[in-house]
Amino acid sequence: MMSAYKIIDHVYDVVVVGAGGAGLRATMGAAEKGLKTACITKVFPTRSHTVAAQGGIAASLGNMGPDHWTWHMYDTVKGSDWLGDQDAIEYLCREAPAAVYELEHAGLPFSRTEDGKIYQRAFGGMTQNMGEGPAAQRTCAAADRTGHAMLHTLYQQSLKYDADFFIEYFALDLIMEDGACRGVVAMCLDDGSIHRYRAQAVVLATGGYGRCYFSATSAHTCTGDGNAMVLRAGLPLQDMEFVQFHPTGIYGAGVLITEGARGEGGYLTNSEGERFMERYAPSAKDLASRDVVSRSMAMEIREGRGVGEHKDHIFLHLDHIDPKILAERLPGITETAKIFAGVDLTRQPIPVTPTVHYNMGGIPTNYHGEVVTLKDGKPDTVVPGLFAVGEAACVSVHGANRLGSNSLIDLVVFGRAAGLRLAEVIKPGAPQPKLEKEAGAIALERLDKFRHAEGGTSTAAIRSEMQRTMQADCAVFRTERTLAEGVIKIDAIYKKLADVRVADRSMIWNSDLIETLELDNMLGQAVVTMHCAANRKESRGAHMHEDYPQRDDANWMKHTIAWIDGWGGKGGGVKIDYRPVHSYTLTDEVDYIKPKARVY
Ligand SMILES: Cc1cc2nc3c(=O)[nH]c(=O)nc-3n(C[C@H](O)[C@H](O)[C@H](O)COP(=O)(O)OP(=O)(O)OC[C@H]3O[C@@H](n4cnc5c(N)ncnc54)[C@H](O)[C@@H]3O)c2cc1C
Repeated sequence: MMSAYKIIDHVYDVVVVGAGGAGLRATMGAAEKGLKTACITKVFPTRSHTVAAQGGIAASLGNMGPDHWTWHMYDTVKGSDWLGDQDAIEYLCREAPAAVYELEHAGLPFSRTEDGKIYQRAFGGMTQNMGEGPAAQRTCAAADRTGHAMLHTLYQQSLKYDADFFIEYFALDLIMEDGACRGVVAMCLDDGSIHRYRAQAVVLATGGYGRCYFSATSAHTCTGDGNAMVLRAGLPLQDMEFVQFHPTGIYGAGVLITEGARGEGGYLTNSEGERFMERYAPSAKDLASRDVVSRSMAMEIREGRGVGEHKDHIFLHLDHIDPKILAERLPGITETAKIFAGVDLTRQPIPVTPTVHYNMGGIPTNYHGEVVTLKDGKPDTVVPGLFAVGEAACVSVHGANRLGSNSLIDLVVFGRAAGLRLAEVIKPGAPQPKLEKEAGAIALERLDKFRHAEGGTSTAAIRSEMQRTMQADCAVFRTERTLAEGVIKIDAIYKKLADVRVADRSMIWNSDLIETLELDNMLGQAVVTMHCAANRKESRGAHMHEDYPQRDDANWMKHTIAWIDGWGGKGGGVKIDYRPVHSYTLTDEVDYIKPKARVY
């Protein structure tokens, strides 16, 4: 097997997989500290999904009114529905302003106020004075193309450092020895060569897995490859039942209309022309947190007040806003609305519907980015040599529901934190024992199996079944019945991969093969997500369980962790356990924020 493929060996101190916001910031941080660093990415860095982020990046700069990092922390804890780890949330919110200034100094072209400061807009769930005050304008924006500006800035900066980029290389699997990560195996998409990286540490920054669902705002590349590598390494993923639906995906197309649209004054209406959010969230209204707005929209549609021929969506209005403001602050979505919904938003409402947008769950880490697992009863045991950052990771700062604009800040704060930690635990150039001859054999066995798969079902057919099942049975509202059916269906779809057919056997730009590897990656995560959702008998954040409509702190204020055995349609057994939520802060400068009912 090993000899059938051309293998090229590399040795690095650090290998980062992923070149989105999180991966690039971690790469820069490691390289800056003199660590020999490689960054592997399946798409060109500036094509990572971070480029699509619109609305902005949260930090309590206080440029548009009073603000404080403890207020940001309060909102994030409340937004997480008390599932977030408060030590990590403190770290995020405290470090956020410095992280934004760092981006500013690196050249990120932020929008500006009259007096030249970074422009900040209102976003859902962001308030003043520990939830007591009015909305806080905390989300720093570069018009409605903040992610684009940020990713280009980070990529330009990263070229300044002495890091090696392996662009259009597809990471297949981690190399694990005795419970520690020793490297990673990747395939060059261009010529099919196999690359085996020996490293003192691997950082997974592979993004979310939104494409498990039929309608998602995320790029087709968001298949959670790093999460799946972790599952195959016999490690658990955390809080996978928490999937965020963004209230305003364009009906039909799924393309995002940023929450910044509501931050600039946009509002939602039903078929009666009613601003229904006033009923569901009397004070925050259209700027309540995402889970609340998405659920309210789903309720309106369910009760027959949806708009359109099938009464199955909602209108978003921006037509009352000065066209000059729209052109200046929301130029991207003006264009998007025209192309994907055929509307001129200065005059017409945009048809929208809740669409899968973000994965709160992922690879469990501490606030240094080190991957942790439950071992011998110890819930915070560090996995040697393995880090995770960005949407792939579950630190957990977003808990059961992420606030808008808190992901971009998560990328840079924890990307940087990982770099700092790497410099502490790794000596540049420390000698590494050679990999065993057969290291990486599992990665190649899997590659080879799919490359020669001669079953009767196409990759696209299995993928479509998976996406439709997740969309129907693991959605905004969940019940015992839909989840029980969903578990049976997704387990059966998982097994179908054993019968997949891959038509192209070549090793040069074989998209059929890569899509099949990605589908295998997604199936494991879809199964884990569905099982974890069926397992959690309460409602919290994005997990709205109609048969258990209340949050149940006594029994369920804990992180789910889940393992799956097998890949390629084999095995598929899920094991579930728990890690406690960190109900303590990092310092004495802020008190633990006690749970209370979450109203907006
Ligand atoms: C449309 C949209 C708008 C958004 N707007 C906002 C916003 O305004 N504010 C906010 O805070 N958040 C926003 N988000 C969320 C936020 O943008 C994402 O959570 C974040 O960008 C994820 O960054 P990342 O670095 O973790 O991963 P990504 O940017 O998704 O990058 C993943 C990287 O991993 C690489 N990779 C993956 N698999 C492999 C593999 N097998 N081998 C090699 N490389 C691999 C990819 O090539 C890529 O470089 C938005 C998300 C979407 C989808």
